[in-house]
Formats: sequence, C-alpha cells, structure tokens
Amino acid sequence: MSWLTNFVLPKIRAVVSKKDVPDNLWKKCPGCEQMLFHRELEANLDVCRNCGCHLRVGAVRRLEILFDDSSFSRIELPKTAADPLRFRDRRRYADRLKEAQAAHGPGNDAVVVAHGRIGGRQAVVAAFEFGFMGGSMGVAAGEALLAAARLAVLQEAGLIVVPASGGARMQEGVLSLMQMPRTIIAADMVKEAGLPYIVLLTDPTTGGVSASFAMVGDITLAEPGAVIGFAGARVIEETIHEKLPEGFQRAEYLFDHGMVDMVVPRGELRETIGRVLGLLREPQRPEVAAPPTPEAP
Ligand SMILES: [Zn+2]
Repeated sequence: MSWLTNFVLPKIRAVVSKKDVPDNLWKKCPGCEQMLFHRELEANLDVCRNCGCHLRVGAVRRLEILFDDSSFSRIELPKTAADPLRFRDRRRYADRLKEAQAAHGPGNDAVVVAHGRIGGRQAVVAAFEFGFMGGSMGVAAGEALLAAARLAVLQEAGLIVVPASGGARMQEGVLSLMQMPRTIIAADMVKEAGLPYIVLLTDPTTGGVSASFAMVGDITLAEPGAVIGFAGARVIEETIHEKLPEGFQRAEYLFDHGMVDMVVPRGELRETIGRVLGLLREPQRPEVAAPPTPEAP
C-alpha cells in the first residue's frame, strides 16, 4: 500500500495536474461543460453565453450586480460567539470557521449586508456567500438578517434577501435551527413597517433556509435554473419510491407551480427589482387617480 500511495499516486497526480487549466483564466461551464474565458464570463455577469447557465456568484459580486452603478455601502455585522457548542466532526468547527474566514475576511460569515440604491430606490440587500461553508445559516447569519431588517426599517427602504445556502449550519446544532424563527421575525419587522420584503432565490436554496425566511417574500424572484427545495431530490426519490418529474426543484418548475412569482435572468435583475420596489412603494398612479378637471371659462 505504501508503494502505491508514496510512489504511484504522486506520479498520477503530476500527470493529471499538468492538464488542469489555471482557475483564474478559464472556467468550465457546469451546464454545457464548455470552457469560458474568465473576463468574458465576468462581463456577462457570470452567465454562460453558450447555454445560458447562471453560474454561482459570491456575495460581494452579487451586490455589485444588484445595486445601481455597482455602488453600495457594507455594514458591520454584530459579533457572535464562535463555536458556541465546541463542536467537532472530522475536524473542529473552530478550525473550519478560521479557514473560511481566512478566505473571506476576518470576522466575516455567510451573509453580507449592504445598502444603496436599486432602480433609484433606497434598498438594503442581505446576500449569502455560498463559498463560506456552503452559505450555511448559523447564529451569525441570523444576526445579519436581523441587522439588515433593522436597517431597512430605519432607512424606510425595501429589504432584498438573496439566499445561496445549503441550509442550517449543523455545527451549531439547535442554535442554527433557532435562526429559522429569528429570520422570520426579521422578515416580519420589515413587513410590519409597511416596507417591501423581496426574496431572490439563487442556486442553491435548500434546507432550513428554504423552510424559513426564503419562502415568505412579498414577491419571490428566482434566477433561471436555480435549485430550490427542502430535501434533496435523491432523498425524496428514495423515500417515496417514485421517479421525480423533469426539472423538479428548479426555479422554472417552482414558477409553474406557483411557488415563485418571476424567474428573472441575471441581466434583468436590477431593473426588475427596481420596478417591483417602485410598484410596492408607490402603488397609486396619479394620472389614473386624479379626477378630470373642467376647463375654466
Ligand atoms: Zn454553458
């Protein structure tokens, strides 16, 4: 065995890795497997020109795509206790957190909150970073959504939440499950203030996230092809012993079944959200509401 692992494996790896394409130049489209040039992909908002596949984007990139002129101000989020349960699976949770924070900035977690303007209207956006432990929702994510809701109420702005998450953060056990009612409270705060609460479902939105704040938007938008569901399709198939229909748990399927209001291509998101914010904030049309005034003689 040691001969295999010490001698043969490194040789194989050396041969294979030579054929690898550098990450920073080309990206393989997960939809059509075509190699896409990084800069071209970025110019097209990370949407494949060949098949229209919407690639996953990070939280900060998401904010750039949504806000007018890609201009926004991030807010500092409340500090939360790291590893409150001293959890350990194959590795310590504290180590996993440290590693994720090394990649995404110290003190950061899976949600980024910023404010600015969308379609000229004041808006607060809470965007999930899937790259941070699968965008999992722990105490920090719950705090971030509450902070976003408070800010929206303070600024009398609409709140747009963009989940990209596998669900609750299992390393925080019951504390992560408690974020489900807490994030519902955050959504309610915005609604009770009479402000728009919009959810933009992106790939993937599953587990405890899809079972809480992500499904209670005044308006629910989704990106094309996004996987949206609670349990995974394979688990459902194995449980009910039935083949699931084509496109099950995809944004278009949810739209067809009334769970999503609009499936919006990434390039039209800013304009669409701006329009929805406008409709929800200024529902009366003066030209229709005003009675005809007779001409003075
Ligand atoms: Zn493609």
